Amino acid sequence: MNDQTAYRADLRIEVGAIRHNVAVLADRARRSGARTMAVVKSDGYGHGALTVARAALESGAEWLGVASVTEALHLRRAGIEAPLLCWLYSHGEDLTPAVAAGVDVSASTVADLRRIEEAASSLGRPARVHLKIDTGLNRSGCPPEQWPDLVESAAKAQADGAVEVLAVWSHLACADEPGHPSVDMQADRFRRAYEQARQAGLRPMRHLANSAAVLTRPDLHFDLVRPGIAVYGLDPVPQAGDHGLRPAMTFRSSVVLTKRIAAGEGVSYGHSWRAEQPVTVALVPVGYADGVPRTLSGRFSVWLAGKRRPVVGRVCMDQLVVLCDDDAVAEGDEVVLFGPGDRSEPTAAEWADTLGTIHYEIVTGMYRPRVSRTV
Ligand code: PLP
Repeated sequence: MNDQTAYRADLRIEVGAIRHNVAVLADRARRSGARTMAVVKSDGYGHGALTVARAALESGAEWLGVASVTEALHLRRAGIEAPLLCWLYSHGEDLTPAVAAGVDVSASTVADLRRIEEAASSLGRPARVHLKIDTGLNRSGCPPEQWPDLVESAAKAQADGAVEVLAVWSHLACADEPGHPSVDMQADRFRRAYEQARQAGLRPMRHLANSAAVLTRPDLHFDLVRPGIAVYGLDPVPQAGDHGLRPAMTFRSSVVLTKRIAAGEGVSYGHSWRAEQPVTVALVPVGYADGVPRTLSGRFSVWLAGKRRPVVGRVCMDQLVVLCDDDAVAEGDEVVLFGPGDRSEPTAAEWADTLGTIHYEIVTGMYRPRVSRTV
């Protein structure tokens, strides 16, 4: 939708918060001698990849990371020239556009490497490659038993001028549970894989740490760290203390109608809530089509006119109803569904707790056709 007047809800992105968070993370990395790659996949975790990329690069990040080639090319086409890694491609996907755009690509198998070499030779320029070892997440990455083959092949491809091996990397499974034994197990396997790469004659960088490891495991920062969620101010390890992050996303709308309802009246579909006495209710024009899960019905509140107020009855496709008791609430009043929490409004982490999920899923799913996003 281009017509701003058609929007009934807005995701307000506080770029200053993103800058602050990146500065915090890059400072931690720098103290271990590491550089920072800000992860901006999935449209910057729902915050806007380009906005976040620019803010991150201005605040201490030197690299960017995304999942898909499409995401990487979107950034390149918008003028982002910083080193940019993409690590996931579809079956049979042509990697030539990525290599042509100077995007770093990940290789987990000798077959990946061959495809990358083909793209490089068709362009007459070496491809920038990060070799991924699977240290125990058991998703993508080279199984340890195939790793010697991969590093030998990569060393040969580098000697032939087809690729430049920039890094050996891996991803952690349980870094958000400080003390989980798998973290050290993965780190050991990672160090071994790196030694094998060196024995094959490669001199790559190493990167392993996601946000949780940036915040809790300085010994695993290696040469480059890859924080994602913490860039957006959402803490993956709040149990490990206050890391001074500032949530960047606020989801807000405004009241379109207020009315008095009589005692005994039911509200919204199914009349799952009834007024016990005469009350004022406020109608807010956001619903499950705009990112407010229907399963929150009866279990959440919003910030409106100076305090939190419960949402009553079922969340509908396009609207929800807020209980205002006898308070003066007016049409046009701001409604905050979640935000940083400074005004006692709910946070994305609170929504996640109520819904039994993680704040990652909340923020990445918020940008919808009827919701604007402003910075
Ligand atoms: N590195 C890779 C390969 C990822 O897939 C992700 C996100 O899932 C990250 C880094 C960033 O992780 P986090 O958002 O937990 O910091």
